[in-house]
Amino acid sequence: MFRVRIGRVGLGLALVFTALTLPAAATSKASGSPEREARQTRSLACHGSTMLRAVRLPSALEPVCDLVGRKIMDEGGVGAHVPPPGWGVAVNALTLTGEQVFAIETRADRSVLLLDVGLERSDQEAATASQSAATAGAACRDGAWRNRGVSERDNHRWRFNPAHRPSGLSVSAARRAIAAGRGYFADQHNDCGYAAVEGANAPTITYRGTTSRAPGIGADGACSRHDGVNVVGFGSLRRTSAIASTCYWYVRREIRESDAKLGRTNARWTTSPGRRCTRAMDIASVMAHETGHTFGLSHPRGSHPSLTMNGRIPACSKAFRTLGRGDIRGIRAKYGG
Ligand SMILES: [Zn+2]
Repeated sequence: MFRVRIGRVGLGLALVFTALTLPAAATSKASGSPEREARQTRSLACHGSTMLRAVRLPSALEPVCDLVGRKIMDEGGVGAHVPPPGWGVAVNALTLTGEQVFAIETRADRSVLLLDVGLERSDQEAATASQSAATAGAACRDGAWRNRGVSERDNHRWRFNPAHRPSGLSVSAARRAIAAGRGYFADQHNDCGYAAVEGANAPTITYRGTTSRAPGIGADGACSRHDGVNVVGFGSLRRTSAIASTCYWYVRREIRESDAKLGRTNARWTTSPGRRCTRAMDIASVMAHETGHTFGLSHPRGSHPSLTMNGRIPACSKAFRTLGRGDIRGIRAKYGG
């Protein structure tokens, strides 16, 4: 099995690179032809007000016109509105065949970086492995994890928007399943015997009630503008193949807001997959995974089908409510001291 990756630059690597070495990045870019890059940005991005396609753009857009607020879409139903100067925004979309990722950062000078353009997905062989290998034993042996280079250091206070939840699912049942999934991640729920990290840096998450605000994720999978409220809810992802999407907005390496949307178009949902389940997704399992993104973890490279942070969650499985060794190692490395 293998992981197919089509892209200009790895996101994790790019994040660390841009966060730590902006002057070097600026220097290496300037060593090319700034005039040519400015011309390229002008001709490809500055005209019109419609959505831009990431694959047609250079990975660095010069500040020759104001791109803040413009929507840039990548392939496969992920995208984002260009954030204000100093901010970054990233999206992770979970599909039945794997994961799609995309990020945009706006520098202080209003130049714009496109990160991880292209698809990231698991092949069918890996997908099959997910269903058979998601056992506690395998999860406790697999130590893989991957850092996104950004962290949620505050108590993550979130609200639930109960609109658009599946019919037959009460507000309280939906909220309980979502909160349970978030708790499984933040509390480091595992069968491997690991104690949860504690202390001032430990991940904390607090439910603050319902809201009428929608998650800042469009039906096309694009992250919209951040509004200062962390929202989880159901809604349309009809112009994507996504089951669920998480967007987060960050300044330097600190996540300032994170929203998650559970799609109503491409998935059915259940709070408790049983024997008769054929294709419903377990809300708590998916939310445990999405909460990992909220705390700055990415999918480990390669195939790690038993880990909660692997890029594919199969239908009808509760196994991903329980974190594996790699998931725990990631939390400990980022929040353990
Ligand atoms: Zn994911």
